[in-house]
Amino acid sequence: MSKVPIAVAYGDGIGPEIMSACLYILEEAGAQIEPRVIEIGEKIYLQGYTSGFTPEAIQTIRETKVFYKAPITTPEGGGYKSLNVTTRKLFNLFANVRPAVSYYPFVDTKYPNLNVVIIRENEEDLYAGIEHRQTSDVYQVLKLITRPGTERIIRYAFEYARAYGRKKVTCMTKDNIMKLTDGLFHKVFEEIGAEYPDIEKEHWIIDIGAAKLADTPELFDVVVTLNLYGDILSDIVAQTAGSVGLAGSANIGPSVAMFEAIHGSAPRRAGQNLANPSGLLNAGIMMLVHIGQPEVAERIHNAWLRTLEEGYHTYDIYREGISRQKVGTKEFAQAVVRNLGKLPEQLRPVRYTQEGGPAKVPVIPIHHSSVPVKKELIGVDVFVDWTPGHPNELAQKIQEVLPPQLQLTMISNRGTAVWPQTLEETFLVNHWRTRLLSVDKKPITHDLVIEALQAYRRAGLDFIKTEHLYLFDGVEGFSKGQGE
Ligand code: NAD
Repeated sequence: MSKVPIAVAYGDGIGPEIMSACLYILEEAGAQIEPRVIEIGEKIYLQGYTSGFTPEAIQTIRETKVFYKAPITTPEGGGYKSLNVTTRKLFNLFANVRPAVSYYPFVDTKYPNLNVVIIRENEEDLYAGIEHRQTSDVYQVLKLITRPGTERIIRYAFEYARAYGRKKVTCMTKDNIMKLTDGLFHKVFEEIGAEYPDIEKEHWIIDIGAAKLADTPELFDVVVTLNLYGDILSDIVAQTAGSVGLAGSANIGPSVAMFEAIHGSAPRRAGQNLANPSGLLNAGIMMLVHIGQPEVAERIHNAWLRTLEEGYHTYDIYREGISRQKVGTKEFAQAVVRNLGKLPEQLRPVRYTQEGGPAKVPVIPIHHSSVPVKKELIGVDVFVDWTPGHPNELAQKIQEVLPPQLQLTMISNRGTAVWPQTLEETFLVNHWRTRLLSVDKKPITHDLVIEALQAYRRAGLDFIKTEHLYLFDGVEGFSKGQGE
């Protein structure tokens, strides 16, 4: 078998020690890989590359399409972009896959039966990073959810479940509140889930779902969710498994994939041969499955489980009475290498080579919506910066200048409808949404929107943003005000 080139970054802090330990184990186990070392992280940031990458490093990742990455240190002070977010965006790494497993009784945990994979959408949601300050008091971030992005992550979750012989996929959203964005995620989950009759499906509202996951994780198998929820859930689940030092993660794109530990560079532990290389090793195991070397992945995984059972533990998981010996990074790696070819005796051995799976999870190409949709403009929400007063005053100012084809139908403040009905108790800020709809919801033109804005300007109203109100095949593409 010819060796597979992989881009390798040794990273910062404990990075170089744990990467050396992992590459040693991979090579001793017979992994057919050819590491191409790239420099990223702290040094590169300090050389003036605000992304933490040099163009050469990016080129190497593009060529190898596989990136094995140790944690890096983001220097203190502003102006440095998150290298992880940059990597995800540059290489379209849309899926973050984080398995969390407990290794009870060998690693202390409150959750002996935890075995969950969190699949998190990695590019969209609030992480689009589109933020604005709109008034002296009000700041906004845009949450963007796309149908193609949602279809891709949900399909990936089902394909993952199939490839790894998992039985159930749980979707978590907050679609009782965010009916359009989270609602789309839930709807696509139902649509695509119907194509996987062999897999059990369920949906939880994220708040109670997260509570259940923290309380009874054994109820869950694969969880698919949006970016922010997934970010939070995956850390909680990894921590409850026993140690942040144990879990690895994969960031998957249509062409490139990145594999890393979930923890950071732990600078206080650096250079002392103390760190647990297990998180990065687990990432390496995922990488071997990804590049089509499941036999090697299986050998390493089982040897690692055996090592945990034997009680050779780094400081983070060392427990008097459970562990046999507190070992350093290197000695831990040597213990794993000694166990290559052995199976765990109490923990369940891992099988990556049995018939049918797990195969590399296919990334199904996505298509932009090809179904033609009839889109009609019927109005506009005009947001204005206006010193809090009685909503009736604002309504009157607007109604005096409005073109006759448009009607003011609602004013809301922080999302709560405050006109035509106003409650004295509602807290008001200087950020108002004024909803203009055409008479009888007849289609209007952009010219009419411009006319309306000119009227606002004549009335001395400081409009700060507009959102067009559309019907898509006759269905409203906008939410109502709370209490409307
Ligand atoms: P951290 O994950 O580095 O450390 C948190 C705690 O866990 C510390 O007590 C640490 O000693 C311990 N720990 C972490 N990994 C361990 C291991 N392998 N073995 C034993 N103990 C381990 O998080 P932090 O302290 O918040 O961040 C430190 C630096 O890492 C920061 O510069 C941060 O930006 C960076 N970071 C990088 C990544 C990444 O590259 N993916 C992720 C998170 C944080």
